[in-house]
Amino acid sequence: MIISIASGKGGTGKTTVACSLAATIENCTFLDCDVEEPNGNILLKPSIEKEEIVHKLIPEIDYTKCNFCNKCTEVCEYNALLNLKTEILLFSELCHSCGACKYFCPENAIEEVKKETGIIRKGKAGKNIKFFDGLLKLGEPAAAPLIKQVKKNADPDSINIIDSPPGTSCSMFEAVKDSDYCILVTESTPFGLNDLKLAADVLKEIGLPFGIVINKYEKAYTAIEEFADKNNIDILMKLPFRRDIAECYSRGVLPALVIPEYKEMITELFKKVKSRLKIFQY
Ligand code: SF4
Ligand code: SF4
Repeated sequence: MIISIASGKGGTGKTTVACSLAATIENCTFLDCDVEEPNGNILLKPSIEKEEIVHKLIPEIDYTKCNFCNKCTEVCEYNALLNLKTEILLFSELCHSCGACKYFCPENAIEEVKKETGIIRKGKAGKNIKFFDGLLKLGEPAAAPLIKQVKKNADPDSINIIDSPPGTSCSMFEAVKDSDYCILVTESTPFGLNDLKLAADVLKEIGLPFGIVINKYEKAYTAIEEFADKNNIDILMKLPFRRDIAECYSRGVLPALVIPEYKEMITELFKKVKSRLKIFQY
């Protein structure tokens, strides 16, 4: 059972909702896939037991064999190779480790070598929350391979909560794509609505069931409800815009742990997600 928490834009409170869900469910696995800015650790405060360096494979040319035939640059879909005739220049940031250049090199002149892309931290938080997050190496532009590695730690015997990167880029797609359900967190503002529409389009396109949580809900701003109504999208919960919740967040404290009313709302949210999926065994 994988529930991903995503949002069309940053700053909607996505991570607070994701961590609150994990803290409320307790016996679960939390996977922070927002690898460019993982914040789940601030709220869940895990004890980290292990750090694992993650690598990607990039080509290395053996110039004793290479005859600069150009085949590798032709097959590279990502323009990561440039044939200078005296050298094959690799833009390792663009390399997606697909292996095509090695496979098609007629001279067998390419070996694959490891390049560090980030780390995965593993630990425990709260009452039996298995905690994992990825931390992308500074300057590394491709987050998707690291997200893939973080997701490999999903536990098929527990509920997995994925905190997705914000936005609608390939990192968000990579984080949410195998989920059973996605919770889209938005806020009661025109910006929230605009980016919600984009995120909803992505989820519709890939056929992933989803519902909306309106965080920092303002009654006076009705455009999100109108959008949801018009597009037949489920509004799962409206979390109020309250000073005590904002203060908790600014102190790095999970509101679900100190505000009983907030915890009740998150419990209700989880019940709703389960009912949408008709999952009763948890
Ligand atoms: S395909 Fe092989 S031989 Fe041809 S340019 Fe690339 S590395 Fe050199
Ligand atoms: S591994 Fe794939 S992406 Fe990387 S340089 Fe080779 S062909 Fe290009």
